Amino acid sequence: MEKFYITTPIYYVNDKPHIGHAYTTIIADVFARWHRLNNEKVFFLTGTDEHGGKIEKAANEKNKTPKELVDETSQKYKTTWEKLNISYDKFIRTTDKSHEETVKRFIKKVFEKGDIYKGEYEGFYCLPDERYITESELVGGKCPDCGRDVQKIKEEAYFFKLSKYKDQIINLINKGLILPEKNANEILNRLKGELKDLDISRKSVSWGIKFPLDESHSVYVWFDALLNYLSALNWPDGSEFKEFWPADIHLVGKEIVWFHSVIWPAMLMSADLPLPKNILAHGWWTVDGKKMSKSIGNVVDPIEIADKYSADAFRYFLLREKPTWEDGDFSEAALKERINGELMSNLSNLVARVLTLAEKFEGKIEGKPEIEDFIRKEEIIENFEKKDLYSALNLIFEGIRKINKYVNDKEPWKLEGKNLANVLYNSLEAIRIATIFLKPFMPSTAEKIEKKLGVNGQLLSDAFFREFSTKVERGENLFNKIN
Ligand SMILES: [Zn+2]
Repeated sequence: MEKFYITTPIYYVNDKPHIGHAYTTIIADVFARWHRLNNEKVFFLTGTDEHGGKIEKAANEKNKTPKELVDETSQKYKTTWEKLNISYDKFIRTTDKSHEETVKRFIKKVFEKGDIYKGEYEGFYCLPDERYITESELVGGKCPDCGRDVQKIKEEAYFFKLSKYKDQIINLINKGLILPEKNANEILNRLKGELKDLDISRKSVSWGIKFPLDESHSVYVWFDALLNYLSALNWPDGSEFKEFWPADIHLVGKEIVWFHSVIWPAMLMSADLPLPKNILAHGWWTVDGKKMSKSIGNVVDPIEIADKYSADAFRYFLLREKPTWEDGDFSEAALKERINGELMSNLSNLVARVLTLAEKFEGKIEGKPEIEDFIRKEEIIENFEKKDLYSALNLIFEGIRKINKYVNDKEPWKLEGKNLANVLYNSLEAIRIATIFLKPFMPSTAEKIEKKLGVNGQLLSDAFFREFSTKVERGENLFNKIN
């Protein structure tokens, strides 16, 4: 049996989840469900990143201890994923004791390899980003990442010999580590310049894992965070590690590709561990045409949207509205249009029409398969292999439109007896097969259709025309028109 290990980034808990977090996590969920549908053994990891000065600061502002803040926010993530039907296998928190132990063990291992040394950092520092910045990186004297003021500092720090792995990293990226290619090119361009060693300890941050070689320092949050992918599998001795490592997909937003495709592989090389197969970077969302921000007040709360329109409608919209790699725009108006125009009129109405007739039909619904090619199965599978969920979903809906066309052309409401049975047979089987492909994208809708059709737990291997022998029940509409 094949294995599949997919991760989302662990989310930073200085604020509650928004559409961006939801998008990443939904994509990971679609992949996880797809591989389960293929009868593979899947490990789907998500979680929260809970250390660092930013958390300390956010907690202070809210009159809370860092621990109170991270417990609360981490719970919000869990609640959101439950609402969005996210089928993760493990939720990791970087404040988990076992994670902290992994980080310490890993640092010792890399130190023994000779890849950590004590040095002095002199330059600029962005406190909110906890990032050291060189003079040449400054933009108008400010932080290149966030545009805020920086402090001039000089302090001792421990460094990881990142520079040592430069050629190996370039090689790895050239072999196709990063998807899509445009993101790989960006990283390769950056690697044309000097690759400096990475400072991996902080003297000024107290809310963090104590640096195991020197407890007056704490571990740099990124070095800590990236290791979650190993600690979740109980590296080095856990059976999960032996079964699932290396990761098949680390899913990331494009802003953190550098950390995952340069720093992370170098860390793994230093520890002599196998490398992840793919770093997959998706695009960003604007909301109502604008960058999401608290001051504009256009931050989308995934729970609110799911409550109002259903989790599946939200999932469908995010995957259908734009190609996976590109940027796109979210608006409730566009979401409503997708619901009314596609989910209701193509899918929900089709199921209702066919099942109304099938429910009333007396006798056995049997016929000859005549629309077996309604859905382009091989191409859908290929798109999943290319990690192109957008095209896969488009092809599924093309199939659903073809069933609609078949029903419209045959006008079963005018037929009876064997002729009616034959059209019902073909429509029901096609709906059942389309539903299998819908499962990763819209799990609860697919489950409802399966229930109406009297089947359950279908796998990809069930996606072919066969005898139709179950009892159907029309039940409620899957989607209703939204005004
Ligand atoms: Zn900054």
